[in-house]
Amino acid sequence: MDRTDDRPVYVIGGGPGGLAAAAALRKRGVRTVVLEKSDAVGASWRRHYDRLHLHTTRGLSGLPGLPMPRSFGRWVSRDNVIRYLEKYAEFHELEIVTGVEVTRVEATENGWLLHATGGRRLTGRAVVVATGYNHTPALPDWPGRESYTGQLLHAGEYRDPTPYQGKDVLVVGAGNTGTEIAVDLAAGGAARVRLAVRTPPHIVRRSTVGWPAQRTGILVRRLPTRLVDGLGSALARISVPDLTAHGLPRPAEGLYSRVRAGAIPVQDVGLVKAVRTGRVEPVAALASFEGDEAVLADGSRATPDAVIAATGYRRALEDLLGHLEVLDSRGRPLTHGGRSPARAPGLYFTGFTNPISGMFREMAMDAQRIAKALSRT
Ligand SMILES: Cc1cc2nc3c(=O)[nH]c(=O)nc-3n(C[C@H](O)[C@H](O)[C@H](O)COP(=O)(O)OP(=O)(O)OC[C@H]3O[C@@H](n4cnc5c(N)ncnc54)[C@H](O)[C@@H]3O)c2cc1C
Repeated sequence: MDRTDDRPVYVIGGGPGGLAAAAALRKRGVRTVVLEKSDAVGASWRRHYDRLHLHTTRGLSGLPGLPMPRSFGRWVSRDNVIRYLEKYAEFHELEIVTGVEVTRVEATENGWLLHATGGRRLTGRAVVVATGYNHTPALPDWPGRESYTGQLLHAGEYRDPTPYQGKDVLVVGAGNTGTEIAVDLAAGGAARVRLAVRTPPHIVRRSTVGWPAQRTGILVRRLPTRLVDGLGSALARISVPDLTAHGLPRPAEGLYSRVRAGAIPVQDVGLVKAVRTGRVEPVAALASFEGDEAVLADGSRATPDAVIAATGYRRALEDLLGHLEVLDSRGRPLTHGGRSPARAPGLYFTGFTNPISGMFREMAMDAQRIAKALSRT
């Protein structure tokens, strides 16, 4: 490291990815400043729905230098994740500036210039982008959406089932978020809960006789896709009942093939039981809206009181650094962890992969790799 260079490394984003990278860098004596647009660390977790618990185990979700306390239990609640992130920043004495949004990153001759809120211009020797895989809610442009007269919201706005008690709700999207919100609504007193499914998900048990699905994910990560697909379907047949008769068939494509295409399996936190007992009704995908009606892909129609779209998020990195040509055709960074894109040395990314082995774990590893790479330069 050039000890005469007193410019800091800037980390954009004070979520788990950014905090982990900052802590690992600080440990190696690299001056690091975290820029966070909201008024506190862990902003994404503060917005998540109340019921949320980590799907990954506490032991495999700790960030570098500070394990999550045992008192959090095996499946850590949303509130405890927030507590942990606050404690993490304090414990590592991280330099964090809140209320500062970085709007553009530019390469200079020997470093980086960041444009930020309030006309700020900040120069750093390197930049770590940790603005989150789930940055901007993505709401599909369904025909008729603009003139739909019912309530339509993105899952990112959902907190708890109370406003939906006695209501008819259509949840769109059968990923972890959609299935969990559907179960939450059913348990929380909604009159009717339908789950619109475009592609039936792979469902896995969160743990089997004490063995968490995440550990299997770590073990199989480097095995050939076809082999893991085969193992996955054999395991599903043993451990997860067939829900075809209830409208949720087993997926045609293999579990790991889907993971490679970006679809993480659904962890069963009550979905199987709710579908079997009819409290959550799988229906066809949402195709369009007409007035107060939701039109489904099989031609059937529904007039729910509310539609909750669990349809994912966009990375939204284009404005920030699209001009640097460091993104692929889907808007994801070309590199992550300790490698910088060839045309942008000194620019690092964390939190933009979505591995089966768990993102907290991946961000913890990427933090170490980034710190190692940066303390070499
Ligand atoms: C519902 C849900 C459940 C999940 N459960 C798990 C789980 O069980 N286990 C697991 O390992 N992973 C899980 N993940 C995935 C992942 O671990 C989390 O999304 C995690 O919060 C990602 O961390 P991050 O730091 O990359 O992004 P975020 O937590 O989203 O943090 C990004 C931060 O950057 C800030 N920011 C964004 N843009 C700017 C900007 N331009 N300037 C300044 N600041 C900016 C944001 O305000 C935010 O604070 C889950 C994700 C979701 C959505």
